[in-house]
Amino acid sequence: MKTHYEVIIIGAGSMGMAAGYYLSRQGTEVLLIDAFDPPHSNGSHAGETRLIRHAYGEGRQYVPLALRSQELWNELQKETTETIFKQTGVLGFGHTGSKFMEEAIASAEAYHLPLEILNSEEINSRWPGITLPNGYSGCYEPASGVLFSENGIRTYRKLALEKGAQLLTNTPVIDLEINENRNIIHTEERSFTSDKLIVSAGAWNGKLAAKLGLSLPLQVKRQVVGWFEAPDSLYDEQVFPGFFVDLPNEIYYGFPSFQGCGLKLGRHDYGQDVDPNKINREFGIYPQDEEKIRDFLNRYMPQAAGDLIKGKVCMYTKTPDEHFIIDLHPQYKNIAIAAGFSGHGFKFASGVGEVLSQLITNGKTEHDISLFSITRPALLSKSTI
Ligand SMILES: Cc1cc2nc3c(=O)[nH]c(=O)nc-3n(C[C@H](O)[C@H](O)[C@H](O)COP(=O)(O)OP(=O)(O)OC[C@H]3O[C@@H](n4cnc5c(N)ncnc54)[C@H](O)[C@@H]3O)c2cc1C
Repeated sequence: MKTHYEVIIIGAGSMGMAAGYYLSRQGTEVLLIDAFDPPHSNGSHAGETRLIRHAYGEGRQYVPLALRSQELWNELQKETTETIFKQTGVLGFGHTGSKFMEEAIASAEAYHLPLEILNSEEINSRWPGITLPNGYSGCYEPASGVLFSENGIRTYRKLALEKGAQLLTNTPVIDLEINENRNIIHTEERSFTSDKLIVSAGAWNGKLAAKLGLSLPLQVKRQVVGWFEAPDSLYDEQVFPGFFVDLPNEIYYGFPSFQGCGLKLGRHDYGQDVDPNKINREFGIYPQDEEKIRDFLNRYMPQAAGDLIKGKVCMYTKTPDEHFIIDLHPQYKNIAIAAGFSGHGFKFASGVGEVLSQLITNGKTEHDISLFSITRPALLSKSTI
């Protein structure tokens, strides 16, 4: 194995593996290094599925990247027999007046995205698996749906290797020496050098940032999801959409049952602060792991509140404003950083992979990534870049 590469990518998960593919496709000599064997259950991409929404409650600035990402996922789908995307549609609902939903609706208007606005009666009658009282409303986006995150990473991995990328698995990067022209990347057994570096280590980015001379305000959260026994007649992918729910003090998201796997549900705004090296990955270690999500089912989807089939633990890496960090290093323009995907990043992984490949190759990208600047005030006030 060679010891010098044009680009080394530290962290070959959602963002890093996609970047590795787009770089190797353009002929760049790239080495991906991962602490585990992606896709795997130790980071932020496990649990089979992720929602992709185009109308975006987190801010209409995300829409162009969401649409480009969808195009790239569709392209990836053509390269594999694995399922990458299913167009189940995504329903959002909450109390009438939810700011998140208002922004999703405004973003759909701004970008002419198909979106149906519905009241609680219309939601209840169209999806009898949902029981909403009066005073709720929703929006349904028929063009969006569900990504199969582990299949996506597996496919990017296969295609990147076919294009000549090298991948080192089960090899944590333990130290870095950086400078404008050449970086030295140390693992336990070997060291490598590269002209350019992409750091996309998910929940471990905070630890690696310190070795890049950065202090990024990243908060790692333990998150859980559960799969529940639910009748196919009401919750199968053919009849039930992906969904998100914005309530005054609670945010949930969920997935229809694919081939009898059960209805999957998670709570977005609940989780424990953790060190990624010390996280307890056993679902149910805290009684709230199941209680918080079952309580939602009892209220709004009672027929899906069957037995728990399985649960899974995963990690969010949050920034203070919950926007991503995708940028070049403030001092070293041969280093790109992709971090802080704040629990809503997977849908963009294809687009972020493209952005990173352009950024590290040309020092700039055709996409507008100003929202994700590493020197934005929301980060600077909390960090010591
Ligand atoms: C429960 C849950 C539900 C979610 N739901 C959605 C959703 O519906 N829609 C959506 O868009 N997003 C969702 N997300 C968010 C999304 O999954 C993440 O934003 C995304 O996976 C983050 O990608 P990443 O590349 O930063 O991290 P990862 O995919 O975890 O990749 C980071 C990689 O870096 C490697 N690494 C770490 N340290 C080192 C090191 N020192 N040396 C070498 N390698 C290293 C890790 O092994 C890992 O493979 C969800 C996340 C969770 C946890």
